[in-house]
Amino acid sequence: MSAPREPATLAGPEVATSVRTLQNYVGGRWIDSAATNFGEVRNPANDQLLARVPMGGAADVDRAVQAALKAYPAWRATPPVNRVRYLFALKDKLERAFEDLARICTTEHGKTIDESRSSVRRTIDNVDQAIAIPTTIQGRAMEDIAHGIDCTTMRQPLGVFAAITPFNFPAMVPMWFLPHAIACGNTFIVKPSERVPMSAMKIFELMHDAGLPEGVVNLVHGAKDAVDGILDHPGIAGVSFVGSSPVAHYVYKRAAEKGKRVQALGGAKNFVLVMPDADMDRAAQVSTESCFGCAGERCLANSVVLGVGAAYDAMVERLVSEAKKIKVGDGTESGVVMGPVISRAHREKVLGYIEQGLKEGATLALDGRSYKDPKNPDGYYLGPSVFTNVTPDMVIAKEEIFGPVLCVMKAGTFDEAVAIVKRHELGNASSIFTSSGKAAREYRYQVEPSMLGVNIGVAAPMAFFPFGGAKGSFFGDIKAHGTDAVDFYTDKKVTITRWF
Ligand code: NAD
Repeated sequence: MSAPREPATLAGPEVATSVRTLQNYVGGRWIDSAATNFGEVRNPANDQLLARVPMGGAADVDRAVQAALKAYPAWRATPPVNRVRYLFALKDKLERAFEDLARICTTEHGKTIDESRSSVRRTIDNVDQAIAIPTTIQGRAMEDIAHGIDCTTMRQPLGVFAAITPFNFPAMVPMWFLPHAIACGNTFIVKPSERVPMSAMKIFELMHDAGLPEGVVNLVHGAKDAVDGILDHPGIAGVSFVGSSPVAHYVYKRAAEKGKRVQALGGAKNFVLVMPDADMDRAAQVSTESCFGCAGERCLANSVVLGVGAAYDAMVERLVSEAKKIKVGDGTESGVVMGPVISRAHREKVLGYIEQGLKEGATLALDGRSYKDPKNPDGYYLGPSVFTNVTPDMVIAKEEIFGPVLCVMKAGTFDEAVAIVKRHELGNASSIFTSSGKAAREYRYQVEPSMLGVNIGVAAPMAFFPFGGAKGSFFGDIKAHGTDAVDFYTDKKVTITRWF
């Protein structure tokens, strides 16, 4: 391991407004992007301009790829046990920077500080899991596959990988991938969401301080042009993507066409099925937290409650009453349980869905449209909204709203409810609330979403279990996290040996 380096600075060239212009991290240094156009990073709680983000493209990506390719041979030859020592150092730095990172995450994203803390904990969990790679990367061997002939499999890294990440978990999602990929011996590029690039930059600052060799990890800012630069670059062996389903599908197709490995995690519309034998109070409380946590901007949010038989009426009243208790405001303030949505444009989009639901005949049992935070009149706030009498054919039941809007739907029987879930084109996560083991088992057996909760609101696999959905929520074969990550970031080389 190399000696600790000089601290890296995140400061970029100052512009007239004195708002910082963000830099890329390439080959162990913060450097200016070649971009000529820039986006804005704003604090959703109060609309304050935080930074200008360069909208890089193929030139910036190529610079990062060249640095990653240059670093690859030496990094690949570094024994895994030495590679993970950098991750031990990073873990220590992440623990020390825990509060700073949570605060950056809340400032650029808007989620509450407790939600940011949970996501930073999950970030560190992934570093912990990747530290196990000297064990999990091991191959298999068998003597005498034929007389005097032995066979071994060894896992080998593949080169340069890249991650393209969404806005909703700025610190955590890049780290669903990076620690695993580099511990396997690959070098890496992150293209964070242009809406929330600063949490990832803070982690890169910590990785720099942990002494990771130049070029092993790189960060490039941008949006579609940078993504296309990654998908088309011949020097990149594989891509991990997380974002909306249309973009996930596009990334999957374009990267696969260029012969890359791809895992593309897409959008979600997660149903929670409530059986008449469920503990209604708990089901309502947990589903409300699940739907409105992170202002509904969570791929694991339960966004549709499907009440079976008498459970429908029992849930409606409780859900509305639970949702009314939610305190909305600036996520840094104590007592606030729901922050703003990510942007003014996204707020408008969510409002559009509420209009759509009204037009289609759903009942707006709780209307959060007019919520304003008196202390932050420019923030992108919405109160919680609850639609009842929702039917499966409505747009609000079909499309991902990704905001604080809960849809409540009725099913006559368990089978009818299962059919509704199975008909939906997305399949990220789902939950069932019941006191019947048989119903829970049957639900797990029949429905496709790959992350399932039984009396749990957010079925979030931890870093040592596979993470990823099914149907239109996932394009690829190998999930994120755990030993799946080792499968994705390595090739299994089989050697068959005979000695004379
Ligand atoms: P998004 O699809 O708009 O953006 C994701 C990434 O793709 C960003 O880095 C963005 O710069 C890039 N991008 C956007 N449009 C592009 C285009 N046309 N061509 C190429 N690249 C493009 O997603 P988002 O709004 O940032 O994030 C929210 C979405 O992510 C939701 O749909 C949510 O369900 C999903 N998500 C899924 C998971 C999961 O595990 N399945 C986890 C988190 C978020």
